[in-house]
Amino acid sequence: MATLANIPLELPVPNVDQIQIKNFIGGKWYEPISNNFIDNKNPSTDTVICQIPDSGPADVDFATSEAKKAFPQWSALHPKERARYMHKLADLIDANNEVMANFETMDQGKTLFMSRNVDIARTATNFRHFADYIESNLTEFTSQMSYPTANISQDGKPVIGHALSYVQRSAVGVAGLISPWNLPLYLLSWKIAPCIAAGNTCVCKPSEFTSVTAMMLTKLIKQAGIPDGVVNIVFGLGQSTGNSIVTHKDIPLVSFTGGTITGKHIASAAAPMFKHLSLELGGKNPGLIFDDCDLDLAIKTSVRSAFQNQGEICLCTSRLYVQRGIFDDFVAKYKRAVRDTVIVGDPTNPKTFYGPLVSKPHFEKVQSYVKHAQDAGYDVDFCVDQTVSPHIKDISATGALTVEHLENGYFMAPTVITNLQQDSRIVQEEIFGPVVSIIPFDTEEDAIRLANDTQYGLASTVWSRDQGRLRRVAGQIVSGLVWCNCWMVRDLNMPFGGFKASGVGTEGGKFSIDFFTKQQSITLG
Ligand code: NAD
Repeated sequence: MATLANIPLELPVPNVDQIQIKNFIGGKWYEPISNNFIDNKNPSTDTVICQIPDSGPADVDFATSEAKKAFPQWSALHPKERARYMHKLADLIDANNEVMANFETMDQGKTLFMSRNVDIARTATNFRHFADYIESNLTEFTSQMSYPTANISQDGKPVIGHALSYVQRSAVGVAGLISPWNLPLYLLSWKIAPCIAAGNTCVCKPSEFTSVTAMMLTKLIKQAGIPDGVVNIVFGLGQSTGNSIVTHKDIPLVSFTGGTITGKHIASAAAPMFKHLSLELGGKNPGLIFDDCDLDLAIKTSVRSAFQNQGEICLCTSRLYVQRGIFDDFVAKYKRAVRDTVIVGDPTNPKTFYGPLVSKPHFEKVQSYVKHAQDAGYDVDFCVDQTVSPHIKDISATGALTVEHLENGYFMAPTVITNLQQDSRIVQEEIFGPVVSIIPFDTEEDAIRLANDTQYGLASTVWSRDQGRLRRVAGQIVSGLVWCNCWMVRDLNMPFGGFKASGVGTEGGKFSIDFFTKQQSITLG
């Protein structure tokens, strides 16, 4: 098995069965102490493309001690200096976009178009965004707000201005950053960037299913000259590597993005240690289609919002509610639009809309939901037109697709389910794949009730030409994000976070910086 040198930052993508990923600790690359590795597969082909370390508590402990060592110097740097390193890193990521995007696609299955224009491009943007943020909010870090206070003198009378109080904002220490597989480097960097901008150091763990681009990032971190130990990446499984990060005594804050069940586990493990937690969890996002909407736009965007990235985006719309008067027309046009535009296949082909699901276990999980819907007697439609997609050679009874030249890939048909009830598992549980349900509603009140009737509260969309209705409905949906007549339009300074079982805490601009800093009230009497 070859080593790090086998991941060159250049195209074409090398013979990838030679890649062995190593932990990045204190600026150097190490094999896991156990010397155990885990196979990682390309979901388009079901072949092993690399091995990742099966790290344990001792590796996490080593990484944490290096992060702790690096903290005093990094946190003492002027924010402009930290921003300078981050800009350098962002430039290097941009310069290597093409090769990183190729690896992201090979590792995750998402289209090369997504990898280039969303995942890797946004990774660079994340570093730039938070570098800019700390540079343009310097006073928050270098000087503190001060103001006279009212206090009570010995004789009990209020005295104005006899003391000076100020807020000191500073970095916390070593942060644990744990990320999922759906937007691998994008979401990991969305944590690393604010974390190090604020002066913390970190121990990171990407998903065991998608570790390759995180490994590539370690090379660029080194090239950017970021001091050793500021960013450490330990690869491995959730229950061992992830859990060791969450429970490490020298890691006082943990930022986690992933499933709700994992989030619950992390919250219960971290709570007795009084850790500062940010949890970005699952979703089951509704789209409300009113009869006065721009139907063409609603259909076009709701096709994208259900199926982009194989439906593997936490913000994907997976429950559509359509006003009864336009229900039949909507369903017919929606299915036609899916057949015409959602081309499933080779993720490197520019015509492909989405590629394979990320892994065999996930593919099997999504398939089991389809089977459940069929057994329950719902109308399950695999929206594939083989005249539009002649490279699809076969569609299985549960919607698995056989794609020409990629016969072993984990491909699934875009699946539309109707004739089902609100309390169905298909409507209530997060499937996180290319499956959408459509249910009719009658009134505005109905639509709001149905939208709010799951344990989740991450994102939603509302479609109507009535501005009053948009504001009324948006304000009553219990979800952290509501998009009206659009989807996925993002300003990185806006608060991002889920309600209910979709998470705890808020990310984005100032909100991320708040999480990654502590604010002390200091009073000089
Ligand atoms: P997951 O919860 O299985 O894993 C996420 C990460 O946590 C991985 O790195 C995993 O190894 C690690 N992990 C697993 N068990 C752990 C444990 N006991 N202790 C510590 N770490 C552990 O999630 P996933 O399947 O990788 O990702 C899909 C989920 O992520 C979906 O539910 C999706 O909605 C959610 N997600 C949410 C957002 C958001 O912003 N709210 C964004 C993307 C994905």
